[in-house]
Amino acid sequence: MLQQRSFGKIDFRPSALGFGAMRLPQLAEGAAATDDAFGRIDVETADAMLRRAVAAGVNYVDTAYPYHDGASERWLGHALRTVAGDLCGPGDAGLAELRGRLKVATKLPMWKLEAREDCERYFSEQLERLQLDSVDFYLLHGLRAGSVAKLREYGVLEWAEKALADGRIGHLGFSFHDQYAVFEEVVDATDLWEFCQIQYNFMDEEFQAGTRGLEYAARKGLGVIVMEPLRGGRLARRPPEAVAALWSAANARREAAGEAPRTPVEWALQWVWRHEDVSFLLSGMSSMEQLEENLACAGRAAAGAQTEDDLATYSQVRDAYLACSPIDCTNCRYCLPCPSGVAIPEVLGVYNDAIIYGGGPAAARFAYGWMPEPQRAESCTQCHDCEELCPQQLAIPDWLEKIRAFVAIDK
Ligand code: SF4
Ligand code: SF4
Repeated sequence: MLQQRSFGKIDFRPSALGFGAMRLPQLAEGAAATDDAFGRIDVETADAMLRRAVAAGVNYVDTAYPYHDGASERWLGHALRTVAGDLCGPGDAGLAELRGRLKVATKLPMWKLEAREDCERYFSEQLERLQLDSVDFYLLHGLRAGSVAKLREYGVLEWAEKALADGRIGHLGFSFHDQYAVFEEVVDATDLWEFCQIQYNFMDEEFQAGTRGLEYAARKGLGVIVMEPLRGGRLARRPPEAVAALWSAANARREAAGEAPRTPVEWALQWVWRHEDVSFLLSGMSSMEQLEENLACAGRAAAGAQTEDDLATYSQVRDAYLACSPIDCTNCRYCLPCPSGVAIPEVLGVYNDAIIYGGGPAAARFAYGWMPEPQRAESCTQCHDCEELCPQQLAIPDWLEKIRAFVAIDK
């Protein structure tokens, strides 16, 4: 059975590994879809993965309104019934038993809200997709600067309080994509929060909420779910030579000390699990092999279980990855604010990531998709004000021009 961990003040012990439904397996090119409602999701494989995960002790599944263009929620509605039938028995009784073993989470698409009625409208649509009359965990999706004002403008918290009271939502939380200062503002916005979800991995200790955010949320009694423990799968890709050499040397030292060697995936996941304030991590797995690897890693998860040598290895690997960065941006933020609103370090980071971890223009476009349009390179007027503020003397407007062209490459 997988390790179970605490979840803030919530009376539920989540498994160390949660099942993320954002990167479900896809049908091979040319293969016919079984049902248009599920888009290009390989339903047979996805069902088998959820069944295997539940049987192994995974007790939390996470989806969201936009995942797979809406097909993820519809798939989960179908899969809950299929897996319940296989593992717990037929009909409503089987589903009820499965719901006791597997908690369901989805998220309100905050960026789509245009009127107060939209909270109820989207939530009803989500329950219909999921074929459920309640969800165990509900998150306000992707909170960032300006979100607290939006919560108030559209009465989101009042609506959520009613849904909590009538039992259609079990627990309320939020997922987050912005700087640490905004994170504090969001955490402090209401006492209704019981948990949050942040991006966290050994490359992102100081990115977005980061370690400070993790500790702040934990001090406030929130459960903390970690998303992107592999940085969107980038840390699972074949690493650059310098990084591979460091992993390999560290594994040799582990073996000499009688410890098992680790794959790059396991190195990344164990880094997250070692933090006691982390409740559990979500991994968006796309194949049965990835699920099996993550389950095996989760079976070895333990808080605080890193040696000094392991920690030194992470630090060296981080430096080695950063040394591959084409743009020498240190994220010091002296160049901000840009008069045109460009989020300069974030835009430069999108390009750096696409080069460091591979993935090219498609990966950059995906990351760009999370940025508000006014903050992208397209807003740059080439005024050059930022250049004289940059201690690295980066030719920022030139890089922005290059990035604009890079994300537009259609391949
Ligand atoms: S050059 Fe572009 S990014 Fe730099 S300050 Fe001017 S508008 Fe902003
Ligand atoms: S001032 Fe230069 S190094 Fe600092 S964040 Fe801006 S671009 Fe990056």
